[in-house]
Amino acid sequence: MQFIRDFIEGLVAQYHLGIQDMKLGSIQWLTEDDVPVYCNDDMVVISGCPSRVPGAFTCEDLNNNSVIVVNRRLLDQDQWFIDAVIAHETGHIKLHSGGRCWFNAREEYEADVYAFLDGVEIIRALEFLNNLSGVRLSHRIKRLKAYAEEEVCL
Ligand SMILES: [Zn+2]
Repeated sequence: MQFIRDFIEGLVAQYHLGIQDMKLGSIQWLTEDDVPVYCNDDMVVISGCPSRVPGAFTCEDLNNNSVIVVNRRLLDQDQWFIDAVIAHETGHIKLHSGGRCWFNAREEYEADVYAFLDGVEIIRALEFLNNLSGVRLSHRIKRLKAYAEEEVCL
């Protein structure tokens, strides 16, 4: 029995190690809030973003720490664009409960507003993405522009 238990525990440990290695890869950099940013095309595809589109999402690692995962297409972009996407993901981490990588429309709006107030070019970033085939962000852009106009009037 002990042999079987050792064998199974060994498999489980390997499986977790495998997940950690395969899913996250190596840390690219730390955000201003010390959130590690990983690059993994496969994970970003699984999160719902095709690899031809610059993409990112947030999730938790095995120790329940928030992480951001980006794809290579994002790393190919200019710094202003990367900053906007990272600020949006930071918004999810700060405003929404951890352990999820799917957010509803209201939460996406809140993360967009967070990025906007952070001073990054989130509207320009969303417009850039919206021009890529298969990406539909016009509703989010409209909402955020309405917010930005109100903000300027205050
Ligand atoms: Zn989002």
